[in-house]
Amino acid sequence: MQGLRLKVSGSIRTQSCSLFSRPQPGCEHPIPEMPDSPTPQRPTDTVATHYDDIIVGSGLSATGALLGLDPGKRVLMLAGEPVGRYHYYNDSNTVPCASTACGGLGNDWHGVIPLATAATFGGYSRAQYAALFRRFYPRVDIDALMGESLLFVPWKPIRPLSVLAEQALSRDRDHLRIEHQQAERFEARHGKVFVWTSRQECVSAQRLWLGAGPLHTPRLLERSLQTPLARASVSDHVLCYMGLTRSPEAPKVRRSADGLLFPATYHPDGTALFTLRPARFNFTQLDAGIAQRAAFGMPTGRAIAKLLRRLSPGLLAEALYNRFGLFPAATHYSVYSQSRVADVYTLAPGAPYPLQPETRKIIENHQALDATIPWPGVARSAKPELYIPGIHLHHSVDTHALEQCGINTDQAPIQVIDASVVQDIGPDHHSFKIMTRAYAKACLTN
Ligand SMILES: Cc1cc2nc3c(=O)[nH]c(=O)nc-3n(C[C@H](O)[C@H](O)[C@H](O)COP(=O)(O)OP(=O)(O)OC[C@H]3O[C@@H](n4cnc5c(N)ncnc54)[C@H](O)[C@@H]3O)c2cc1C
Repeated sequence: MQGLRLKVSGSIRTQSCSLFSRPQPGCEHPIPEMPDSPTPQRPTDTVATHYDDIIVGSGLSATGALLGLDPGKRVLMLAGEPVGRYHYYNDSNTVPCASTACGGLGNDWHGVIPLATAATFGGYSRAQYAALFRRFYPRVDIDALMGESLLFVPWKPIRPLSVLAEQALSRDRDHLRIEHQQAERFEARHGKVFVWTSRQECVSAQRLWLGAGPLHTPRLLERSLQTPLARASVSDHVLCYMGLTRSPEAPKVRRSADGLLFPATYHPDGTALFTLRPARFNFTQLDAGIAQRAAFGMPTGRAIAKLLRRLSPGLLAEALYNRFGLFPAATHYSVYSQSRVADVYTLAPGAPYPLQPETRKIIENHQALDATIPWPGVARSAKPELYIPGIHLHHSVDTHALEQCGINTDQAPIQVIDASVVQDIGPDHHSFKIMTRAYAKACLTN
């Protein structure tokens, strides 16, 4: 077994083998027969180790599940490839849609957490949302703010790698093993779940938590169950530029010790989230900025350097507001909407990238929102076809068919914890909700 490399507070650290548990005596089982298995079985294979829980993935959802599991449990996390890579929405390779690295897209997310609509997906309580939030951001009075139309943008987004390093150090060495391996397939049999890994090991557990992300979980399910479970399309948020206004008032950005609180305006029926962002330089001309933003996508950590290289002062000014809340007062404001578009991308079977956008649905969504912009006097965008992918992919698995397979039902030993099984993520940023949902599901088993 190779040591785990975890990036902690910006530095790469190699964890020693002390992270890994030793095989449990008496827990060796022959590999169950897999008559139609896609992976040939060697007769000498044995089940290496038995665990209470195996978690597939190491992104935000997998990390949420780990945090929910009692530290006394023996847990194996199959954290993904040793050297991960991004997959992208399209061939221009600007906006990532999936990552096979340890930490997943959690290495790049901006950390935005909505406070208005905490309990959207069911399966967790407001108290659990607040408790998990408080764990990371203790200096924000979450109890007082919960329910307000605010988006919390932390100075330090939750990074799975840091959390995993901390858990590896704090949990007993026999109780948490984190492996840079992929799960190839799994099978439930004799009251246990068996998982075959990319190094041809077979491990077993009482429960399996699947958090490989909305594009990889469906493939893992299909490889394992050999039944069509991946949906032909996947849903996402799209970010649209609705137009330009000489707005009534500057957005009131509040500061806390752990981050910023931006105002958000929800569509009355809860289907969209509108934000105002100061428009400067070339962004004061209608539609001048969206073409740039659409080409640039959702900036990752090195965004500011990239923006500087592009020498777009309008883009830079907007990025400084988005990240640091700087210079909210302006003469003009861009109006953006974020809304969920069901089945907005079609997927090729097998390797689902690049994603094929349903442009008609994106334009129709823009037109429907146009009548509901919550500010008066907005000059309407003439380019409804331009948008920014939300990177909030979800609903990629046929949940009904999955339940027929006995997965993800109450008490089932195999649970999907990422957004692939969530049909409607609501209008706002969903990742912390998904993390809380995974946390709450895991807590139920303690
Ligand atoms: C630039 C950027 C900004 C973002 N900003 C926000 C934001 O502000 N707010 C918000 O809510 N969301 C945001 N997001 C979205 C957010 O990052 C994702 O929704 C979230 O990280 C998804 O987490 P996940 O754990 O479900 O999946 P992933 O992050 O995709 O993790 C999947 C994990 O599974 C592993 N894996 C895959 N296949 C296998 C396998 N077969 N075996 C074992 N492991 C496997 C991968 O290595 C990875 O560790 C942003 C995304 C990006 C890229």
